Amino acid sequence: MLLEKGKNLPQFLDWVESLSGEVTARRFFPAREPQFAPWPELDGRLKDYFVASGMKGLFTHQEETFRLARAGKNVVVVTPTASGKTLCYTLPVLESIARDEASRALFLFPTKALSQDQLASLYETVTGCGIDVKTFTYDGDTPPAARSKIRAAGQVVITNPDMLHTAILPHHTKWIKLFENLRTVVIDELHSYRGIFGSHMANVLRRLKRICAFYGSDPTFICTSATIANPQELAEGLLGEPVEIVARSGAPLGERQVLLYNPPVVNRQLGIRRSSLLETSRIAGEALANGISTIVFTRSRINVELLLTYLRRELARRGIAPDRIAGYRGGYLPNERRAIERGLRSGELLGVVSTNALELGVDIGSLELAVLHGYPGSIASARQQMGRAGRRQGLSAAVLVASSLPLDQYLAYQPDTFFGGSPERARISPDNLYILVNHVKCGAFELPFCEGEPFGKRETEEILTYLEQQEVLHRAGGRYHWQADSFPAERLSLRSATSENYVILDVTETGRPVVIGEVDRPSAPMLIHPEAIYFHGGKSYQVMELDSEGMRCYVKEVDVDYYTDADLAVRLEVIDEFESDPDWGWGEVLLAARPTVYKKIRLNTHENVGYGHIHLGEEQMHTTACRLCLPEGLIPAWKEDEKSTALTGLAHLLRITAPLYLMCDRGDIQVHSLVKDPHFGRPTIYVVDNFPGGVGLAEGAWQARETLLDSAREALRACPCDDGCPACVGVLARGLGAKTATGQLIDALKAQR
Ligand SMILES: [Zn+2]
Repeated sequence: MLLEKGKNLPQFLDWVESLSGEVTARRFFPAREPQFAPWPELDGRLKDYFVASGMKGLFTHQEETFRLARAGKNVVVVTPTASGKTLCYTLPVLESIARDEASRALFLFPTKALSQDQLASLYETVTGCGIDVKTFTYDGDTPPAARSKIRAAGQVVITNPDMLHTAILPHHTKWIKLFENLRTVVIDELHSYRGIFGSHMANVLRRLKRICAFYGSDPTFICTSATIANPQELAEGLLGEPVEIVARSGAPLGERQVLLYNPPVVNRQLGIRRSSLLETSRIAGEALANGISTIVFTRSRINVELLLTYLRRELARRGIAPDRIAGYRGGYLPNERRAIERGLRSGELLGVVSTNALELGVDIGSLELAVLHGYPGSIASARQQMGRAGRRQGLSAAVLVASSLPLDQYLAYQPDTFFGGSPERARISPDNLYILVNHVKCGAFELPFCEGEPFGKRETEEILTYLEQQEVLHRAGGRYHWQADSFPAERLSLRSATSENYVILDVTETGRPVVIGEVDRPSAPMLIHPEAIYFHGGKSYQVMELDSEGMRCYVKEVDVDYYTDADLAVRLEVIDEFESDPDWGWGEVLLAARPTVYKKIRLNTHENVGYGHIHLGEEQMHTTACRLCLPEGLIPAWKEDEKSTALTGLAHLLRITAPLYLMCDRGDIQVHSLVKDPHFGRPTIYVVDNFPGGVGLAEGAWQARETLLDSAREALRACPCDDGCPACVGVLARGLGAKTATGQLIDALKAQR
């Protein structure tokens, strides 16, 4: 059934602007013409295939990458979604195999789903050009029977870092063909390797290069990344080698418009706005009812289901078949997902509601509109989601509907942060001792270390001696050999800092408990104390019991409208300062935390609706922190309670905005304020890296200190409340002139710098 066209896209966008919420920005981006480069010298079969499939040439960025990779240079390609990034790395690989069939390539994708999609697309090219390239995915689902064939014959092996770490590197003797002939390593979605995951990845790559060197190969790395502030720096940090950057896209782009939409305020005192879920549903519903093909992104699975229900109801009400819109999320079966992708490409489906599962490479054709329910956690990710509605010709648009979360509210009023050069610097800390030592162990298991052998560029003598003392390694003939029984990679997760994790067991159903996740030891007091509400996969669970000895946490699924927030009794000891100015500094700290009480905070309104006591011991962690000490007599007229209110208010604001500039999740940092810090004797705020040893976040905060103060001021200003509310200055500081006092504090700090 064809729809009768109602509003077209520009009319629809005008309609959004007429709603009772506020369009805080509407930006227009002009169309861009394609930039072609002449065909490079290519294997005839490849060129014939590309010409036959209608290509006029390579886009300039594809040709540039090809040229650099062929010259043996490492490259990171940073161009927008749908700019033909895949060809940037498949072309050099196919060309290399066409010339020499012994040549091998390894493709690394951060997730399994993504590697499946890439396999499909690579197959298409390979089949089309008639070059016999044996391409396989190697992941947890690969049947044992197929594995030996892949090891021997796979010319392109598609896998993920976890498999490389646990299954390929430790068993390199079964992969001799691959390692002897490895010419190219492709790392897609490079920006996802940051923080803890990135710090591990850098070490996995050190191990990979060590094994390659052993077998006599020296591969070139081709990486792709979303737009972040420092793609080249990140790539060089991960690879430990110089990397060239290709950032200018030659792909054509249709005209685009992007709107930031903030739902209307319904309670000014508490700073409460109308539900962003309902506003998203209203906006997407109107678009779909007017025949505008739409993708809706939301953060949780449960919201996918809710939005889908609302939208189907709306379509039915307006006489359109409800099944023209589908849901898409992890947990759907692969064939269901493929059917949805096909439906979108063919236009049989008019729309889809998705979690970030669809954000990445999956081909769904070109849709007209993307509606984002809330900020997805990073600007890079928001841009990728918006890019899913993007066409090479004609107008497309994206609308971001801000949720009531403080960071959404901040960003709604920062269009320049959003549209300008990315403020997000991805950070890694490959030499974090906890991580490094574990990978040196894995490395020693794979190949004995020689005395004086570096690991990457890092000296190893001290670590090797330590491991010898621990009887993990055994020195003989100038080499350190693995001597423990265990298999070191198996116990080491690339997604956490220590191997000490609590296992979360769901005991909702009687019978066997089901493992639903893990929480690292330092986060446990905050997140999984008894009676805490633990969120996982869009569901809420209550902690029934925490077994600190057995490292187990038992939870039951519950339906509640609040979350819990633990108050910690915190001790911070400054052990060493690496850099400092009169007010700010960063260095090594010991953080000791004991949870005392927890508050129940109602979702959406952030009201405090109850509390309880917690009886747990102290957890200690050595890590890094950035601190801000208030100068003496900063505001002479201040009373003590004003000072402490302002301090708590500023700490809360930093907790909101810092994750944006540090490119991390909320839980990756802790922010603490002390009215009289024992070390400095002054009121002090600490931004603490929440991983043992630190993963670069404290240094990042130090470098971004001016920006952090500015962003705190902007977040405070953007909040619609009158005198401080839970969303800006937090629950503890509200009232008592909190907004004014906090604002004065920031201004005074800025003025004296
Ligand atoms: Zn407020």
